[in-house]
Amino acid sequence: MYLSKENRGDVEGIRVSVREFAEKRLRGVARFIDESNSVSEDVLRDVASMGYFALRVPEDYEGPGLSVFESVIVIEELSRVSSAIGVMATVSGSMVPYSIVRYGSSYLKDRYLRLLAKGGIGAFALTEPCCGSDAAAIMTRAELDGDEFIVNGTKTYITNAPYADFFIVAVRTGRVEDRHKGISLLVVDRGPCVKISKLDMMGYRGSGTSEVKFEDCRVPKENLIGEINTGFKKIMMTLNEGRITTSATALGIMQAAFEEAFRYAQERTSMGVPIIEHQLVQYMISEMAVLLETSRLLLYEAAKRVDSGDLEYIKYASMAKLYVASRGVDLVRMAMQVMGGVGYSKESIMERLYRDIKMVEIGDGTNEIQRLVIVRSLLGKIKPE
Ligand SMILES: Cc1cc2nc3c(=O)[nH]c(=O)nc-3n(C[C@H](O)[C@H](O)[C@H](O)COP(=O)(O)OP(=O)(O)OC[C@H]3O[C@@H](n4cnc5c(N)ncnc54)[C@H](O)[C@@H]3O)c2cc1C
Repeated sequence: MYLSKENRGDVEGIRVSVREFAEKRLRGVARFIDESNSVSEDVLRDVASMGYFALRVPEDYEGPGLSVFESVIVIEELSRVSSAIGVMATVSGSMVPYSIVRYGSSYLKDRYLRLLAKGGIGAFALTEPCCGSDAAAIMTRAELDGDEFIVNGTKTYITNAPYADFFIVAVRTGRVEDRHKGISLLVVDRGPCVKISKLDMMGYRGSGTSEVKFEDCRVPKENLIGEINTGFKKIMMTLNEGRITTSATALGIMQAAFEEAFRYAQERTSMGVPIIEHQLVQYMISEMAVLLETSRLLLYEAAKRVDSGDLEYIKYASMAKLYVASRGVDLVRMAMQVMGGVGYSKESIMERLYRDIKMVEIGDGTNEIQRLVIVRSLLGKIKPE
């Protein structure tokens, strides 16, 4: 596994090695992943063997033990070539370990963190058909029956679901009217009671976005993360950090779009000169370069704030997510414009990047929800757990 102890802190070394892996192993299959809406077993195995699905699993549990900043670099580089693989690494490598590392019992840590470190894949199941932004309204129920919970309900848009060995599931253990006070987090193993239907999404195709039904799943009591009915805050904290790694997928897409448009502008000629000689094209190229660097600076700042223990990171995470997502959409739209008809055709990677980047304005809290978090943070109303 490359992501080992000797590389800790060597951010540029990590970047170079992930870029090399992504170019060699993912470049040739990225289009097929998108077109077939699936990732083959052997690609999954190779990505997992690099530790990319276990980024934040501590070394004590045989994981790479990367910081948030280092994880951002890995996800950015994976997403530069295949955003499907990048977002899979975000969920399994960052969001899934977060709640277990931070709030899980030693039993859960030993079992599930080691599973991720060995190449297992995790999924994070919060959203339901009834409710995404309104997470306090979820309805998937977990009823205690002796030493087990019985879980019933439907989650939707769940990344990684077809490949996952286990799911971190937000469940209702209290009354619906208690909203956030009646929610818990459970680890549910994949099994016959978990029914998965892959969805036909516009972008991030291949990352396994699925509807997941839990039908009378019997889950041991020990799989509860933390105390009963205390899951909501844990979910919010998971999303706060997850926003940083989700934004890293957008940054990788932005980098790819910029490189492609910049190259094309120097090769394509019109009116006897390369189009980069035209001032209106120069405007778009310079605008894209600025959007890319400002996005990178804000995102890296947010990641470094988490790593330094600065609790202001929650505001920075939402600011970075909002900025990178919305400016990312602007950047890819301009990059497509620079490429004209080729950018709009399946000949180039641009149309895939255009479809993929839009998701970041929706997943892991929409742009509107990021604005709510930013204002609540400014008002001092968000208290980290
Ligand atoms: C590709 C993809 C992968 C995903 N992966 C996962 C996953 O792995 N796990 C998971 O749990 N979920 C996942 N999601 C779900 C995602 O997090 C939700 O789609 C998102 O949170 C929005 O929820 P919603 O779709 O229910 O939209 P809604 O909440 O119905 O929102 C609809 C619109 O109303 C706005 N709105 C809602 N409430 C407010 C408010 N209070 N103030 C202002 N505006 C508001 C929203 O901003 C949006 O514009 C994924 C989604 C996608 C597209």
